[in-house]
Amino acid sequence: MRLWHHGNRMFRLELHELLFVYAGLCLVIILLASVLHNVRRNSRERHAHRTLVKCHLCAFEFRDETGADLPMCPCCGTPVNRDPVSRL
Ligand SMILES: [Zn+2]
Repeated sequence: MRLWHHGNRMFRLELHELLFVYAGLCLVIILLASVLHNVRRNSRERHAHRTLVKCHLCAFEFRDETGADLPMCPCCGTPVNRDPVSRL
């Protein structure tokens, strides 16, 4: 009787731990999914921002897909440095 009680308690502890591990695994999977989603979204945004150029003279933002070092501003015709456009 004493042995059975001990065994039952052991099983209960294991079940409790199993539930804890299961909940932890679910949390880890959700966390990983959200991190992966954020990383994928950030890399896509970074790629989009690489082609975004802002003119220093007229502050006109335009997309340049040519890959030239100094793309011409379509607004005022000035060669524009390909500086990273701030996200703020
Ligand atoms: Zn311009």
